[in-house]
Amino acid sequence: MIEKGTNNLQVRNTNKKRIINLLYHKNGMTKQDIAQTLGLSLPTVSQILKELFEHGLAKEGGTLASSGGRKPVINTLIYDAKLSVGVEITQNHIRLVLIDLAGNVLYHRRLREHFTNSEEYFKRTGKLIEQFLSENYVDKNKLLGVGIAVPGIVQKQKGILEFMPTLGVKNLPIKMLTQYIPYHVEIDNEANLAGFAEIWSMEYLNDAVFLSLNKGVGGAIMVNDKVYNGFNCRAGEFGHMTIVKDGKKCTCGKNGCFEAYCSTNVLTNNEFTDVDDFFSAIDKGNKQCIKRLETYLDYLAVGINNIRMIFDTDIIIGGDIDQYIEKYIDQLTKRLYDRNSFGDETNYLHISKYGGMASAVGAALLLVDNFLDI
Ligand SMILES: [Zn+2]
Repeated sequence: MIEKGTNNLQVRNTNKKRIINLLYHKNGMTKQDIAQTLGLSLPTVSQILKELFEHGLAKEGGTLASSGGRKPVINTLIYDAKLSVGVEITQNHIRLVLIDLAGNVLYHRRLREHFTNSEEYFKRTGKLIEQFLSENYVDKNKLLGVGIAVPGIVQKQKGILEFMPTLGVKNLPIKMLTQYIPYHVEIDNEANLAGFAEIWSMEYLNDAVFLSLNKGVGGAIMVNDKVYNGFNCRAGEFGHMTIVKDGKKCTCGKNGCFEAYCSTNVLTNNEFTDVDDFFSAIDKGNKQCIKRLETYLDYLAVGINNIRMIFDTDIIIGGDIDQYIEKYIDQLTKRLYDRNSFGDETNYLHISKYGGMASAVGAALLLVDNFLDI
């Protein structure tokens, strides 16, 4: 268990990582091509490749045809040289992902497990991780560790999960949660981790706001590839900005929060078990649900527009809802356009790449990121 005092949610752009990314996208390149593409010297590239070979992360594989002299050698990545597990804990589910060094999801599982603040639950979590590893025949020597995403505020320096309203948890020592996980463990807030995963996957974006729409509404602010935490590690808690004065009651106990209007609970409204059921009712033409969605989009546009006004940056929507929102994106962007004081085009809005898996992938990527930074 590492509890760093510093923020480690940072996509570090070292030359090593640039080379890895390049090899990942190009699927094998010569030393000369790497040097030329990244503007690095040949000795630098040779040195980094040597390190990658020594760590078993890359290999020489095949040669290019040569017009004369020595044939240029192709270098390729060994993606599965190391693996990492990501775990996302929510009120009623545990999600597990297994990823490789390139952030590819090799295996994914979502289990219905109701969270309880109990020894029994912590033990069960450890057991589920063990089962997940053995089901996938994971060689423990390849395993970097386990990353955990939780829906609330994580105070790493104090070693506590400070406040997780949807789990009903206050000041839970991190070691209670991780005591039955015999691997290197990293832990962070689910929305920060989802944002971290998204920005990791978007080469061209360095600044963005991630808005997570689940039962809880949260988010992450990324500046220069780094998650901005704020003084109390509460930055990006968009769910609790007031959008209606004296409005609906929120899980935090206050009134009129964004979350009270844009939690997925608002859609499912005790009638549907999850958003999947809600949206299939819409597909069947359920008028009440269509109306509810329209109201939801109205408030969502208010929240997104506020975020856009504050940060003037790209916004990525993620969470349980993102796969459905895509279908209604025109309705949402119309509302956003109408609300925007500066007539901004709505191309600043993106839908998450990893979807509902983003937080778990981000948690697993914490270990990959640390590893690649050796
Ligand atoms: Zn609230």
